[in-house]
Amino acid sequence: MPILKKTKFYKDIKIVKRCKKCGVPFRPARYSYHLGLCIVCRREFIKFSRPSWKESVAKMTPERREEFMEKEYLRWQKWVNAHIDRRRYLALKSYHQRKYIPSNRARSHHKKKTAV
Ligand SMILES: [Zn+2]
Repeated sequence: MPILKKTKFYKDIKIVKRCKKCGVPFRPARYSYHLGLCIVCRREFIKFSRPSWKESVAKMTPERREEFMEKEYLRWQKWVNAHIDRRRYLALKSYHQRKYIPSNRARSHHKKKTAV
């Protein structure tokens, strides 16, 4: 019987890099896709490097857009049918996030208290 149990040993390497853009030190995970940017700059880079779906829809012709939206709606419905629990969870979360926004309060279905 071996006296010492063989245990797996992983070297804990902590790489500290500096952001190319703002110079903030950050610790990327190993083999991660960080591009030499910190999390804030990376988020910004990803956001502005590719066109948003709204932009691409705005460029379409009306017929093409209608076709696209119909297809997307069917795809979404399919997803909802497959993941009804997740959809209900998201809807509830969205409801609680948006219920205090005044513009949404105006058309709420609850009875409002009247001043006496
Ligand atoms: Zn940065």
